[in-house]
Amino acid sequence: MHRVVLPGGEDVPQLSIGTWMMGERPAALRAETEAVRLGVELGMTLVDTAEMYGEGACESFLGGALAGLRDGVFLVSKVYPHNASRAGVIAACERSLKRLRTDRLDLYLLHWRGGVPLEETVRGFEHLKAQGKIRHWGVSNFDTDDMEELWETPGGTACAVNQVLYNLGRRGPEWDLLPWMERHKVPLMAYSPIEQGRLPQAGALAQVAQKYDATPYQVALAWVMRAPGTIAIPKASRAEHMRENAGAAAITLEPADFAVLDASFRPPTRKRGLEML
Ligand code: NAP
Repeated sequence: MHRVVLPGGEDVPQLSIGTWMMGERPAALRAETEAVRLGVELGMTLVDTAEMYGEGACESFLGGALAGLRDGVFLVSKVYPHNASRAGVIAACERSLKRLRTDRLDLYLLHWRGGVPLEETVRGFEHLKAQGKIRHWGVSNFDTDDMEELWETPGGTACAVNQVLYNLGRRGPEWDLLPWMERHKVPLMAYSPIEQGRLPQAGALAQVAQKYDATPYQVALAWVMRAPGTIAIPKASRAEHMRENAGAAAITLEPADFAVLDASFRPPTRKRGLEML
């Protein structure tokens, strides 16, 4: 498994686990637990969640599902923008820690930009860091102008990642956000890397998949991971999907494959605002 180095030197696996909509349906809990534990066992040891997911239900689910595995996991959660004042971020983190049954988050993200000045949120994050309650902080759904503003905010350059919507069908970040992040050495964490299972599997993806004896979604994940600083966090609540996704780490695409994929999934030709799911 290739690893991505965060600013500061720590590295995380390039392919990991998303959990949006897990922990919400009692009938699915057993399968979801099995899937998450399998993913960790297969080396996808970064687990992404948020206080928003099921209004805490997903974090509570993970608190149980990761029992005995916590120390081997790089745990990521996110704070709602309306909780992102200095005091709000500290209180929200305490609630997340309790639900997750842990004493620290490895990475805490501002879920998207809201009305709270960035400086306040950064001060809250830095306070949590000093207390040892979070180890790193970052942002999510920040476009290039937001990142520039963050870089001008006191303490803002300590940001460890920007988590954004990025997959073959959503290539907007390639216009100027991804280059900006590469220049500033901020890893991009790609959410919905298979467009929530809606990427067209026939055509270009199937063609490239055949060459590697792989599946179309494995190719879609390998494509997201083609840049060494990009992390993909597919969500799979079924063990067979988790195992399939883990297999994407073994695929290294070649220039001819990129040409096939570019012909069907066009790169951006102008700036568009960052899309969100
Ligand atoms: P995704 O990972 O692109 O797709 C998840 C969907 O694809 C699920 O329905 C899953 O089914 C299905 N799937 C997974 N592997 C598959 C496979 N190999 N073959 C066929 N279907 C497969 O979408 P996502 O959940 O939106 O994004 C991933 C994670 O990113 C989230 O879970 C969350 O942690 C994070 N996220 C962050 C934000 C943000 O604003 N920061 C927004 C959205 C998502 P099963 O579950 O049935 O296996």
